[in-house]
Amino acid sequence: MTPDITPLVAGNWKMNGERDQLDQLALLARGVDADLADKVDVVVCPPATLLYVATTLSEDTALEVGAQDCHNESKGAHTGDISAEMIKDCMAEYCIVGHSERRTDHGESDYHVAGKAQACWRAGLVAIICIGETEAEYDAGSAEQVLKRQIMQSVPEGATEDDTIIAYEPVWAIGTGKTPSPEDIEEIHAFIREELATKFGGHGERMRILYGGSVKPTNASEILAVNNVDGALVGGASLKAADLLAICESYRHV
Ligand code: PEP
Repeated sequence: MTPDITPLVAGNWKMNGERDQLDQLALLARGVDADLADKVDVVVCPPATLLYVATTLSEDTALEVGAQDCHNESKGAHTGDISAEMIKDCMAEYCIVGHSERRTDHGESDYHVAGKAQACWRAGLVAIICIGETEAEYDAGSAEQVLKRQIMQSVPEGATEDDTIIAYEPVWAIGTGKTPSPEDIEEIHAFIREELATKFGGHGERMRILYGGSVKPTNASEILAVNNVDGALVGGASLKAADLLAICESYRHV
């Protein structure tokens, strides 16, 4: 945690969830009571097909909604893509950009990711920008070098704590059940904080840095208590409302 920063837990459903999954969203919305919402911001990022109905269902609740990706342009001949403006039109407030699965499966470079983050800002969305080293980069001892490059190139100039959230997701920890030790997470988040502060000054000091990669109810309290961990980006465990709520509950009594 970082003093004076409200943490945020975001659930990334990835390409999971048809309409019956909305039952979980409704349970989640019900579980984020006023007391919990006071301690932590909770966001769910369903597939684009469920975005509008998700925001409609969570209206008048503390649960917020985000998308998983956007195109950098506002409209045009880009079959299959959706723009940040379309996401905003669905009444969502956040958008994940640069997730490692997009970087790998769709060849998205830091340059693409920065363009998407700027598109989020243009549309009035908060960009959740993902960074993280691969297993090979970790083994080669180049994690910090990779993160520094991603911060320099994927996080555009002008980012502030109001329009940008950083999600540190070591690629080797995503969906694998493996997580770095709390000591390692502390060290790498301190490094990210330093880089953000160097690039963005006070805004970098106040920007939320989420940890992502195999966060579950059983390890959440330990990870979320680490210095400079200002919340979590949760994949697999976000599909069940009870699991995501159990992760958020780590904040109720702190
Ligand atoms: C993710 O994909 O952002 C993620 C963190 O996944 P998981 O929690 O399943 O490792």
